[in-house]
Amino acid sequence: MSKQTLSFQAEVAQLLHLVTHSLYSNQEIFLRELISNASDACDKLRFEALNNNALYEDAPNLEVRVSFDKDAKTLTIQDNGIGMSAQEAIDHLGTIAKSGTKDFMGKLTGDQKQDAQLIGQFGVGFYSGFIVADKITVESRRAGLKAEDGVRWVSGGAGDFEVETITRAARGTSVILHLRDDASEYLNAWKLKQVIGKYSDHISLPILMEKEEWKESEKEGEPGGMVKTGEWETVNKASALWTRPKKDITQEQYQEFYKAISHDYENPLTWAHNRVEGNTEYTQLLYIPAKAPFDLWNRDKKAGVKLYVKRVFIMDDAEALMPSYLRFVKGVIDSSDLPLNVSRELLQESRDVRAIREGSTKRVLSMLEDLAKHDKHDAPAEGADGVTDVVSEEDKAKEGKYTAFYAEFGAVLKEGLGEDFANRERLAKLLRFASTTSDSVSVGFADYKARMKEGQEAIYYITADTLAAAKNSPQLEVFKKKGIEVLLMTDRVDEWALNYLHDFDGTPLQSVAKGAVDLGKLQDEAEKKAAEEAAEAFKPVLAKLKEALKDKAEDVRVTTRLVDSPACLVVQDDGMSTQLARMLKQAGQKAPETKPVLEVNAEHPLVKKLDGSVHFHDLAHILFDQALLAEGGLPEDPAAYVKRVNALLV
Ligand code: ADP
Repeated sequence: MSKQTLSFQAEVAQLLHLVTHSLYSNQEIFLRELISNASDACDKLRFEALNNNALYEDAPNLEVRVSFDKDAKTLTIQDNGIGMSAQEAIDHLGTIAKSGTKDFMGKLTGDQKQDAQLIGQFGVGFYSGFIVADKITVESRRAGLKAEDGVRWVSGGAGDFEVETITRAARGTSVILHLRDDASEYLNAWKLKQVIGKYSDHISLPILMEKEEWKESEKEGEPGGMVKTGEWETVNKASALWTRPKKDITQEQYQEFYKAISHDYENPLTWAHNRVEGNTEYTQLLYIPAKAPFDLWNRDKKAGVKLYVKRVFIMDDAEALMPSYLRFVKGVIDSSDLPLNVSRELLQESRDVRAIREGSTKRVLSMLEDLAKHDKHDAPAEGADGVTDVVSEEDKAKEGKYTAFYAEFGAVLKEGLGEDFANRERLAKLLRFASTTSDSVSVGFADYKARMKEGQEAIYYITADTLAAAKNSPQLEVFKKKGIEVLLMTDRVDEWALNYLHDFDGTPLQSVAKGAVDLGKLQDEAEKKAAEEAAEAFKPVLAKLKEALKDKAEDVRVTTRLVDSPACLVVQDDGMSTQLARMLKQAGQKAPETKPVLEVNAEHPLVKKLDGSVHFHDLAHILFDQALLAEGGLPEDPAAYVKRVNALLV
């Protein structure tokens, strides 16, 4: 292939623009990203070589070499990993394969600070080289291809890049950064070692740099300088972080390792590092990020947990290792029991993998439980024994973390109710909601239960599109009057997730918008009797209403749930809520065509007016349409509604 110039995919060009304009504040991370790519490339080679030892050629020791040339102002990161063919270079360095990229780019604002934050959730990888370089040359040859099938890729980081085939004896990839003038500090061994130590100590691969030594100048009076010796030395610890004993690992090292495997810019919220013994033995190092990634809602997205077997990387799209509702977890699992040379398909089926998945799921749940437990600390109280409880520094550091976690990932966690039956109860305890007594999303089912009124037999909740709609829903009126707390659920997934949870710790969950209200013991005999009498007296009007609305309402009945509003809509006990039906329709899906029940407040002046009114038909329809509006819906025929209201206004 002779030299040709190709354009970057539009999203890459956008990303590059951002990289060069927004990521200045954290220049040095480019080295972490490129070394991490080099390390991945070596991992891939090791994995492919399990079934094809010839791929090692005559260089079985995998390594990364970092070198620089002061005169040419270049910094080179070279690995002897899997390498790239010409086509792979075009595909991998010219396009972004992550799905959802386009949507993500659409979210960028042009505000550099904000975008730099966003880009952290995206991860720039290879392109971060352009933070320090105004030109990057990549030379590579894929393992197993002939020397003549090498490739050179060159770009100035604007709209396009050049590719051509070259002859390259060495397997693997060299990334040559032509440094900008303001990045010349990286042409210095001491600086490079310092950055590598900070970001790449935990990489199991040796990172080599050429040794330098001091040499006096041969010319009289001139100062000496450092010269290269031709000897290479390893400058990182080169032992996989997770294999080291916990006590030898600092907080910073754990955090840096997280950033390297996740491409995140922020520190993780928390992590757990354990050696699991028993039938299946493995090491797990699992992190919970602080911020949701840009593609959290893409359920097909690769899970963030990498599987190693005896330190050999096996796969990173390890869905088999983490259920989908925990897809935000990042980390490493290293097993000594799994066979090395098995296919991914077989791995997914393996009993050991299933045990690892169960164990890892439980570990994540207990991390979350621990955060939830320490989320809030009340002022230290003096116990009965006269001793004041002291909150340890470690526990203090956990304050507020669960709230932060929940704001980012709570909605995903809820998917677990439908996905992970075995852990449903533990998950239910981790859920938090707003309620009629708390605007913040902080009420757990257990908190709710502890506050239940005497005689209250159910946990009441309402689902709506927004907090305001939920709070002002007419269905809540009687609950407000009686001072009964109602959970306000406004996540899209709530309705679906709650289908899988019928009770919490023995107390049934009851939607206030489903079925007839039965406040049970919360209503006294006199109230019940008065309601029955009102319903009886209202019967003839009800019959007329039913007739007038027979196309819209399944039934019309008198209710005690309303105080200030004339009417509301409810669904039958086993029916799909109108909110869920609306959501399905919006998403272009089929929703069962069930009609709601109209409930009227016989005490309301508007309802009282119905009897004998010459406008009966119009009033009936207005009542129905208003009930629909009140819960965030739209009348089927808005124009007809307006006409009716106007006629009455006139
Ligand atoms: P990511 O690593 O997140 O996939 P990058 O932009 O860093 O994204 O890299 C894009 C792709 O380019 C990688 O997935 C890989 O296929 C290829 N690549 C990058 N660096 C190397 C390398 N040193 N050796 C082989 N392939 C590489």
